[in-house]
Formats: sequence, C-alpha cells, structure tokens
Amino acid sequence: MQSVSASFLDSQSPSFVLAAATICAFSAWLIVGLRGQAEIATTSLKRWWLLVIAVVAGIGVWTTHFVAMLGYRTDIVLNYHLETTVISAAAAIIAVGIPLALSTICTQLWMRFVAGAAAGLGIGVMHITGMAALEGCNQSQSIGFNIVACLVGVICMAMACALPRRANPPVVTVSLVVVAVCGTHFLSLAGTVLVGEQVDQLLPGIQGALSVLTATGAAILLLGTFLAMSAAKRFETQETLHTRVLATALRNMSNGILTVSATEVIELYNERLCTMLNLAPGTMTRGMSLTAYLEQTGSANGWDGDRVARVLANHRAWIVKDDETRVEHVFDDGRILSIVCQPIDDGAVLTFDDVTQAREAQREISQLAYQDPLTGLANRRSLVEHMTQASESEQPVTLLLIDLDRFKAVNDTFGHGIGDRLLAGVAERLNEMVGEIGFVARHGGDEMAVLTRVGAEASETLAEHIVAEIEKPYTFDDLTVVIGCSIGVCGTEETSSPADLMQRADIALYEAKRHGRGRAARYTPGMMEAIADRHLLENELRIALAENQFYLAFQPIMALMDDSIVGFEALIRWEHPTRGTVSPATFIPLAEETGLIVSIGRWVLEEACRQAITWPTNQHVAVNVSAVQFRSPMLLAHVTSALAKSGLPAHRLEIELTETALVENGPQLVHTLSSLRQLGIKIAMDDFGTGYSSFAHLRDLPVDRIKIDRSFVASAINDKHSMAVIKAITQMGRDMSIPTLAEGIEDADQLSLVRSFGCDAAQGYLIGRPERAPLSLSHNELTYAA
Ligand code: C2E
Ligand code: MG
Ligand code: MG
Repeated sequence: MQSVSASFLDSQSPSFVLAAATICAFSAWLIVGLRGQAEIATTSLKRWWLLVIAVVAGIGVWTTHFVAMLGYRTDIVLNYHLETTVISAAAAIIAVGIPLALSTICTQLWMRFVAGAAAGLGIGVMHITGMAALEGCNQSQSIGFNIVACLVGVICMAMACALPRRANPPVVTVSLVVVAVCGTHFLSLAGTVLVGEQVDQLLPGIQGALSVLTATGAAILLLGTFLAMSAAKRFETQETLHTRVLATALRNMSNGILTVSATEVIELYNERLCTMLNLAPGTMTRGMSLTAYLEQTGSANGWDGDRVARVLANHRAWIVKDDETRVEHVFDDGRILSIVCQPIDDGAVLTFDDVTQAREAQREISQLAYQDPLTGLANRRSLVEHMTQASESEQPVTLLLIDLDRFKAVNDTFGHGIGDRLLAGVAERLNEMVGEIGFVARHGGDEMAVLTRVGAEASETLAEHIVAEIEKPYTFDDLTVVIGCSIGVCGTEETSSPADLMQRADIALYEAKRHGRGRAARYTPGMMEAIADRHLLENELRIALAENQFYLAFQPIMALMDDSIVGFEALIRWEHPTRGTVSPATFIPLAEETGLIVSIGRWVLEEACRQAITWPTNQHVAVNVSAVQFRSPMLLAHVTSALAKSGLPAHRLEIELTETALVENGPQLVHTLSSLRQLGIKIAMDDFGTGYSSFAHLRDLPVDRIKIDRSFVASAINDKHSMAVIKAITQMGRDMSIPTLAEGIEDADQLSLVRSFGCDAAQGYLIGRPERAPLSLSHNELTYAA
C-alpha cells in the first residue's frame, strides 16, 4: 500500500465544493421557509414544523458534509464505517437541527443567540463524528483549525438565528448558514491530513452505503422542500385571499383606519383616512414613521410645530397604554374626528370617525332644548338650570316673573302672527333693558322671566322700569298694539330652592294681578299662607256646595209709602262645619275668581224661588247676581229653570246687579238684561254710588230699582256730601221714574232722613236683620218710628 498525503487545495475537488455549498444553501433556504411556517402555525401544528426543521437542518448539514467528502481526496481509497456514519446523521439532527428549531420559538434575542450558537457548535460535532466514520486511511486533525472552524460555525449560526427576521432579508440568513456549515467543514478539513492507499480511478473509495445515505439525505431534503412548498403555497393562497378581503374592507369602510407598530412604523392605513386628514394621494406610505405621518397631517391642515409635537406626544401616550383611548379632535375647519386608539400586541390600531354632522345635530338638539325658537330667549328648562346654579352659589339672585296683560286679547283680535311678533318685540325690549345685569327667559306662553344678581332695591327699580317699557306701544306695519305687564318679584334670600323661588315669585305675580295688574309686587312673608288659605277655602267651597252647607237668610224690604214689607233680599250664608258662619264678603270674591259662583248662584236662585213661592203673592224676592255670574251664558237658563221649578211668577223675582257687573259686561249685557226683563224679571242696581257711578248707565240701561249704598246712609247724618248724594240719587230716580231704595237703615234718624228725601223703599237692621225664616215674623205688623 502506498501512503499519500496532500495539501488542502490539492485534496478537494472544486466542483464538489460547489455542490456541497449549493446543497447547503438549498437547505438553509428551506430552513428559512420552514421557520416562517413554524412562526405562523397554530400551537398544535407548531411542534411538527419544529420537528421538520430539526430533521431538514440536520440532514442538510450532514448531506453537505458527505457531498463535500465525495470530492475530498479522490486520490486515495476512503471507506466509511456505516454505523458511525448513521450516528453522525443523528448527531446532526440532535446537535444542529434541534437548537436551530428551538431558536424559532425563542422570544428573547439572547435566547435565539444562544440556540444559534449551540447549533453552530453542533455543526462541529457532526463534522467530527462524520470524520470519525472514515476508514482505510490514517487521519490527523489540527486542534487550532478545528477551534477556528467551530468558532466560525458558532458565530455565523448565532447571528443567523438571532437577527430579527423582519429586519433581514432571507439571503442574509441563508448566507450566514452556508458560511457556518461550509466554513466549519472546510476550515476543519484544512487542518486535516489523510494518509492512505493511492488509486488512479476517480472516486474508487465511495462505497455503496455512502451513496445510499447521501441519496437518502437528498430525499429527505426533497421531502422537506415539498412540504415547505405546499405549505407556503397554501399560505400564499390564504394570504392573497386575506389581503384581498382586507383591501376591500379597508377601501369600503366609512371609517379611517391606521395601524402603528410599537416601533412607531405605519403598517396599515386606508384611503378614507387620507381623505379625512386632507392628505394628498401618495403622501402616506406603509412603513413611514409615525412622526412623518403626523408632520404630513400637520402641514395638510395648517398646524404649527407645537401642535404637531402635541399630537405626536398624545399618539405615543395612547399607543403604550394598556386600555383603549377615545378622543375627539376638532380641526380648524370645524370638522370633528372621533379617534379610538386600541393597543394591540405590537403597537396599536387607530380608527377615525367623522362625527361632525352628529355633533352638529347634537348641538342643534341641545340648542332647541334650551332655547325658545320664537323669541330666541332661553326657555323654561334653561331658566330652571340657571336658577339651580344660582341657588348653589353664595350670591343671592332675584327672579322677576313677568306676565303680559291683555296679550290674549291681542292674540284673539289680531291673530297669532301679530301675537308672535308682539312676543318677539317684548323679548327684544327685555333683552335691551336687562342687558348684562341679568338673564332673560321665556317661561311659557305670555310669561317671561328675568333672573338678576342686582340687589333687592335695584331689582324693584328694574321691575318698575320693565312695567313702564312694556306698556309703550308696539307698531307692526300700520297696526299699533298696547299691552301691559304684571311682575312678581322674589329673591333667593327668601327661598330655599329653585322651585320655592318660582312658586313665591308666582304668588307675588298673582298679588300684582289681584291689585289691578300693570304693576310689580314683591313677595312678602304671609303671601304664601294667604294663598294656601285661599286654596283650602276653595276646596271647602266645593265641598260646601256638594254637601249643602249653604242656606239663605232673607232681609225684609219695606215700602216707605205704607211701611209694608214688599219683599226680601236673599243673602247667602255658609255654615262651615269648623269655621262657623262664613261671611259672603269672604267667600263670594273667591267663588267669583274660581268660577264656582256660577254653580253657587244657580243654587241661590233655585232656593230663593223655592222659598218665595210660599210667601204672600205681593212680596218679591231679590237675588244678588255677581258680575262673573252675569257674564255666564248659563245665567238665563238658570233663571228660567229656577222659576219653572218653583212656579214663582217672573215679576216676583228681582235680580240685583252691581254697577261693576253692568260696566264690565259691555255689549253682551244689553242682550242679557233685555232678555231678563222680557221674562218679566225686575233688575235692581245694587250698591249704587260706590262703583263707576256713571249716570249714563242709568240712561242707557233699563233698571227697575236703584239701591243706594249703605255707606252713604251710614254717614249721611254727619256728612253733608253723603246726604247730598242720597238726595241727588233720589231726585234723579224720581225724574227717571226709577224707584230708589236706601240700604243699611240702622236707626230711626236714618229712616226719617231717607223718607224725607223721597226714597221709595228702605232696607236695614232697623227694619229687619237677615233671617233664616222670614215668614216666622209678621213683618206687615211691624211699626217703625217715623
Ligand atoms: P248686598 O247685596 O249689598 O247686601 C246687603 C248687605 O248689607 C248684606 O250683607 C246685609 O247683611 C248687609 N246689611 C243689611 N242691612 C244692614 C245694616 O243696617 N247695617 C249693616 N252694617 N249691614 C247691613 P251680607 O249678607 O254680608 O252680604 C254682603 C254682600 O255679599 C252682599 O251685599 C252681596 O253683594 C253679596 N251677597 C250676599 N249674598 C249673595 C248671593 O247670594 N249672591 C251673590 N252674588 N252675592 C251675594
Ligand atoms: Mg244686594
Ligand atoms: Mg247692597
């Protein structure tokens, strides 16, 4: 046997170096692809992909080694020990494949680095095991070369595994793996010397077993390739589908969308976002930085550097937060974008929604909710909120509740168009007068309100000023309208809550109206109680009517011609279960206010007629009818029904009306009066001299009796003026052929005085007090001092 040694360059066939490097590169490319699959695989499939990586990587390194060995020292006989060769394949899978596969699932960089380094060291292990399988020659290895070889393997594999996949194109990783595997192999071989039997033939030493093994290695690689390619294809198909679906969704969605990586790189966006942000086409690109994107947005919307910096800082804060952020960004052109930033594993997804119209609608709704559309003033709701705020603050406020007088008449006479313009005109005057010192609102209908912080005195001056200003005429085209107003004034010093304030101002307003309108009244203690009393009384009046608590007292009327009792005046009495007898002077005005007088008056008419029918036929009954009752369209019906029910002839019924009733009822009066008189009913003018006392009334309105008010009779003896009035009325009655009656005769002097003036009849305590049962007395037999 002839021993031969050779230098490294002479001992390696270049074509096999190329073949080995190609196989190695192919394996490395496969590994890169398989790692990608393993990363996206589900947990259950991941372990199978890791196994494939381990096998492909191990077999790839092993095959590279043995293909290279096929072209090594072709000049000497080389045999391979089968078991050791197989062990070397297992070593490649265990020492190279497994660490490499594990590096795929390492999350930390240092872990990937260590796994890669282990795989690199594994290449050396596999090489040494593979070399140990050589038979038929003596080999010596250089420790130095082996160390350098291993170092190259360790460093390159560590780098190939540790470098982030996204940052490195596959070619870098493939190159590093090729350098690691081939570098280890050839550097180690460079320090290896083989001495063996020389042959002339090419590749005489290749055994069948080695061929089978390398063929198996190649088959495994092919299988790996097939697996990787079919998986990649499936993935690609899926990816394409996903991409298409995603692109369609992004294009068609009404929201803008943006995804930003943790490293502040724009990964995804849609065209809608660009439109929303006024970004020109092509301004935005995937991969641009968050800063660049916001700078572009800023310059497209006219933001200055500070604003861009602020917005950038906000975005950074949202991205790192654990939970969702919702904000609204108002652009200079008025648009409002609602932005929701949802953090994800590696960055954040931002969605943009143009809510300008929605916010505008909300604003309009809230404006409608707080503003009166007709006058432009704040509405009741707004007033209540202002009052609530005012009640929470230390500073006292005063509420002026303004009610327009005669507004209804204007509305009814001139129509709602003029009514609306009038309200707007009033609102304008109020705004001008109140200006900065208060808040003006329309409380409802023809009621306005002013809330002011000026003191008690100033607020009363303001109220008087308002009364005076509102009274000034309003001109609409060629129409001039005059109204007035009443004002209730109340300050928070006197109240405990907004509701209380409103209630007391309302009570004060009621008082202002009661005292003749066209004035302001401030709430004073006791008003509330008085109102409460009135309410109570009102309720009790209703009960009284239902439970028959009324009765009639009758006061005799004496003819002065022969001192005979010619009739009785029916005077209502209320026998209250707890209050005792309540005077009509107390409850009649309330009954008039509430309208209850119509029902009460009906009862009086019926009861008076019912009793009068039992009296001598020469006696009449006088029934008082109040102004409100007289105005009621029911009066005629009530009168006729009372007469019909009782059977009393109409001429025995006299109706007493006050001058006020006659004056207030205007044109309707004449009709009612003449209807009553046509029935045969007599009409007396009660309390003459105290009301309007216009003699013109006597001239124009047909009446059958004038009742001279008792105030004149009471003072006549000592007061020449009163005496003159009685005298004048009596004389006038005589001239107009209207009989006169003097009321309130309490003593003989008064009786002889009125008798001397020529009064036709008299009524008073002297003649008889109002009594429940007049017929129990024989009035005709009574005699009076002359
Ligand atoms: P009036 O119609 O003028 O009635 C006369 C009032 O003078 C009665 O008071 C009567 O009691 C009182 N009176 C009679 N003689 C004298 C006297 O000599 N001296 C004094 N100081 N007073 C005398 P009364 O009953 O309290 O009624 C008060 C007013 O209430 C009535 O005034 C009348 O306007 C009204 N009234 C009474 N009953 C009714 C009714 O049924 N319907 C309506 N609408 N009003 C009524
Ligand atoms: Mg009367
Ligand atoms: Mg009277």
